[in-house]
Amino acid sequence: MAAAVSLGGAAAASAQQSAVPRSLTADSATRAAIASRYPRDRSDTLPAFPLRRLAPGVYAVSGDTGRGVEGRPNAGFVVTPAGVVVIDALASPGEGRVLLRTIRTVTREPVRYLILTHHHPDHTFGAIVFKRAGARVIAHPDRRTLANAEGDDRLASDWTGVMGLQQMRGFAYADTPDIRVRRDTALIVGGRRIEIVRPGPAHTAGDLMVWLPADRVLFAGDVLVEDGVSMMVDGSSGAMLTALARIDSLAPRVAVPGHGRLATKPATLVAATRCYVLALRDTMRRAVAAGVRMGQAIDRLPPADRDRPVSLHSRLRRNAVRVYSEMEHALFDAAASQSAIAGEARRRAACPR
Ligand SMILES: [Zn+2]
Repeated sequence: MAAAVSLGGAAAASAQQSAVPRSLTADSATRAAIASRYPRDRSDTLPAFPLRRLAPGVYAVSGDTGRGVEGRPNAGFVVTPAGVVVIDALASPGEGRVLLRTIRTVTREPVRYLILTHHHPDHTFGAIVFKRAGARVIAHPDRRTLANAEGDDRLASDWTGVMGLQQMRGFAYADTPDIRVRRDTALIVGGRRIEIVRPGPAHTAGDLMVWLPADRVLFAGDVLVEDGVSMMVDGSSGAMLTALARIDSLAPRVAVPGHGRLATKPATLVAATRCYVLALRDTMRRAVAAGVRMGQAIDRLPPADRDRPVSLHSRLRRNAVRVYSEMEHALFDAAASQSAIAGEARRRAACPR
């Protein structure tokens, strides 16, 4: 794949054609996603990323906007008198270095903690930069995702093929937490209260969000993305609904999604995401109940962009596959429990009265 990426013009196009598989299995989708989502923008040479001050000492570091979940994610940081808390590390040591330079435009305080919202490489592969700068990594211990299903070495080499060696210079895995967080946890740094919220396994098994109650700012990770089509292939739609309800209960003033423009009316983005998830669950539940096969149900959706598995249409399809199987299991469980109940009733009928 690295060779295909480095080819030019028509040769690259045809090499990529043959490299991209016809069907989006978990594994092929992951590799194709890696191959297509990142333009080689040499962002490691930038002096700093765009910065938005959300509250005193609270900053969002803006990634790409208008591209859904393709491109550079958002990150953030909180400055306290006792040091800096960083939220997400971006996609490579190169991006991590620029993120650190961005932080240095605001403060010289040491970076104490790096909180990871989940274990996807576009949010964690810059983590080593902060670890080497002395930060302790706070994350959920469950690192399992489709992207690393074939192992960390495979993922790192695939990702290097896309980001380029320059961006990945100095890479080492650093997303295994020094401080493991499995449930809601408050971090008090320099007198500032930073709440780490466990929303459940919505986007991935290891999801966390960061909530600043005094400022009502939420860093939502990929539970929220700018177009309301959050990925659930590493999580579940049921947990996504629970996570969205959790965000509503927090009632944030501003939410930083994992990707794309900041939500200054978070309730609107949450509602749009919820409506998407509910509609998909309803459609797939009906399909399963009517005996429509998964392939047929998926064929009713707009075609996926074959070489862009996290494009909007590809996300719709991949989520649909996930939700179809969730609904199939749910129906199965219900049927199983109903037949179990019926079986017990039959056995009970034989008992003495
Ligand atoms: Zn993600």
